[in-house]
Amino acid sequence: MPGRHSAAFSFAYVLASDAGALHVIDPGTDTVENRLRLDASLAAVGLERAAIATVFVTHLHSDHIGMARWIREVTGASLSVHVAEQAALDRLSRGTLDPDSQLDGWGVPAVRRIELMPFVVPVSRPRNIIDGVLHDGDLLPIEGRAVRVIWTPGHTPGSACLVDEERRILFSGDHLLPNMNPGLGLGGSTPTNAIADYLDSLDKIAPYEDVEVAPGHGYRFIGLTERAAEIRGHVSRRRTATAAILAETPHATVFELASRLPWSGGWARMQGFYLFSAIRQAELNLDLVTCRSSSGAPSATS
Ligand SMILES: [Zn+2]
Repeated sequence: MPGRHSAAFSFAYVLASDAGALHVIDPGTDTVENRLRLDASLAAVGLERAAIATVFVTHLHSDHIGMARWIREVTGASLSVHVAEQAALDRLSRGTLDPDSQLDGWGVPAVRRIELMPFVVPVSRPRNIIDGVLHDGDLLPIEGRAVRVIWTPGHTPGSACLVDEERRILFSGDHLLPNMNPGLGLGGSTPTNAIADYLDSLDKIAPYEDVEVAPGHGYRFIGLTERAAEIRGHVSRRRTATAAILAETPHATVFELASRLPWSGGWARMQGFYLFSAIRQAELNLDLVTCRSSSGAPSATS
């Protein structure tokens, strides 16, 4: 969830195999500070960066995948994502819609267009650094540990959680966060509605109610079922609010709808990525309420 104030940091997780190889989940934003932080954190527990054998990223946002490129270069580690996330990276790098027609389609007034541009233009994606893809149910290649991929589309098309069933830990990426409602549909367009996908994906992790959740942001927590129920309530309230606004003004544009929906940060303070995400959430809700098929949504991050 790039740029989000309360998500100013993200968690990288490192798992060690029986043989001593290291496997990184979501290395995080690529900055000099973070590279030093990774080395220092490993050194603090007697480990070295050179032992990193693989990197898996839960989704394509730069605050998760960013540093993977550097780790891959300096260690020779292989990088993998869920197969649907690689497809999303492909689509985003090609670009789908002309940015102006996208903004026109949403009804964005001239004064708000410049700040949205970075999120609607096709930008080069690190697609060519992906060495392999994993599928739902696959195990990460970690000797002595069974860490399984669960495909949980919604936040992005190929978002994935990882579950270590023996140690009862679920690495949730941005699918389930303790103190934020994940933005949905933030990895480009899909033929399905990202809200519906997200609710199905909450069902997919429901069997793991007793695990410790290790999320991409916030803090580790126990109580997956309660947190999923809170987010479901939030999703449902937004859908109801959308239906009420559309009943009053059936021809509201996506932008008008977004401006009238309640937002935890307040509409007046929405800028840049937050504005983009709010518009995208409004669009998905409008599609859902009117049974309109999902229109092409551009990228979310640079
Ligand atoms: Zn994200």
